[in-house]
Amino acid sequence: MQVIDFHCDTLSRLREAEREGRPQSFLHNDFHIDLDKLKRGGYLMQCFAAFVYLGDKECSPLASALEQIDIFYQIMEQYPDEISQVKSWEDVKRVRREGRIGAMLTLEEGGACLGSLGVLRSLYRLGVRIMTLTWNFENELAYPNRMPGRTAQAAASEAETERGLKERGFDFLEEMERLGMIVDVSHLSDAGFWDVARRSTRPFIASHSNAREVCGHVRNLTDDMIRAIAQKGGITGINYCASFLDERKNEEECFGTVAQMADHIDHIRQVGGLDMIALGSDFDGIGDNLELKDCSMVPLLADELHRRHYSDDAIEKIFCGNAMRLLRETLR
Ligand SMILES: [Zn+2]
Repeated sequence: MQVIDFHCDTLSRLREAEREGRPQSFLHNDFHIDLDKLKRGGYLMQCFAAFVYLGDKECSPLASALEQIDIFYQIMEQYPDEISQVKSWEDVKRVRREGRIGAMLTLEEGGACLGSLGVLRSLYRLGVRIMTLTWNFENELAYPNRMPGRTAQAAASEAETERGLKERGFDFLEEMERLGMIVDVSHLSDAGFWDVARRSTRPFIASHSNAREVCGHVRNLTDDMIRAIAQKGGITGINYCASFLDERKNEEECFGTVAQMADHIDHIRQVGGLDMIALGSDFDGIGDNLELKDCSMVPLLADELHRRHYSDDAIEKIFCGNAMRLLRETLR
């Protein structure tokens, strides 16, 4: 079973380790993702986010993004026989043909563009093909759902339903669609989600979000949102983070299981259909309280779906097929 994963924070972990003077290798490390584990997990493609924390006073947001993009390029140069950058649909087909792992650059925090369309286009030229308009901070483009200072277990009732995209955010939406950069609504406020749903003319995605009906966290999607994504031909990537999977446990007891992941998949399938479900692990951005200890263990989710009588074709769509369809329709 080949795997495509729309979101991980491995670049930011590697950068952090480097900054702290204990650099880690991409070939083999104790993170959720390294090259060995991607191979064992049967990955066709992994999206690597440059994650920018706007609260960092020591480093400008753009420099933070560029440093992570530099780490990405170093990895591509170090392991050219095993992993290769994907920027286009042709690249997806090429890595599959060659039996290499595809790697796509994404950006988690539109604020890294400093409100400049020129910066956005430059990041596109470097290969960024998916961008979340926000992380958990307000920026030049939009408002997020979870403001800093709120509890980690942000309840659905705290969702930001008034403030969505700003003027600049709409400019960015238009330019991203023109370029062929996929708009990612994960982390965006509810109001912002609906701004994107109304204004977008291309498929958009929630790269790492689950179903709010199953777990009432603001990072998850309401049923109406799930339907809106499906209607536009987008996808949502299932997030493995324990607190986005199961709200019944308090944070210390939280443990993410494949059964909970399958519960979200069951629900999203019922509401939005099978064709919008993909994977968005959030690996290396979440804790270790997970049944899937690292990316090599992702086939355990396929086993659980088999137990629930999902056909081989349905599982293939969730693991890879739906993502391929989306990339074919959105990348230039
Ligand atoms: Zn995230």
